[in-house]
Amino acid sequence: MKCPICGSEKIQPANTGENIGGFIGAAIGALHGAKAGAPHGFFLAASGALLGAISGGLSGYVAGAALGSIIDSEFLDNLECQNCTHKFNTTLDFPDFTRHPKAS
Ligand SMILES: [Zn+2]
Repeated sequence: MKCPICGSEKIQPANTGENIGGFIGAAIGALHGAKAGAPHGFFLAASGALLGAISGGLSGYVAGAALGSIIDSEFLDNLECQNCTHKFNTTLDFPDFTRHPKAS
């Protein structure tokens, strides 16, 4: 893979959408998880909310990162040349959803 501008092979993925998606997904997931995990009982409320926030945050992050990854590959310039800083995408030969070992 080479930069279309300068021909350099020093290419690095930007993954902007993936990072943003993961962050937003984790925040939303944690909020929903905390609500869903908190029972009405007084003693279990705190631990239930905490567990809910953790599991919600994790699943939210995975979902957000997956969505962000799709946004990266479909809509954003997801690669950056380290030589001339030109950003470009590789939609045609990119689809690679196997780079999320944590999501499996
Ligand atoms: Zn370049």
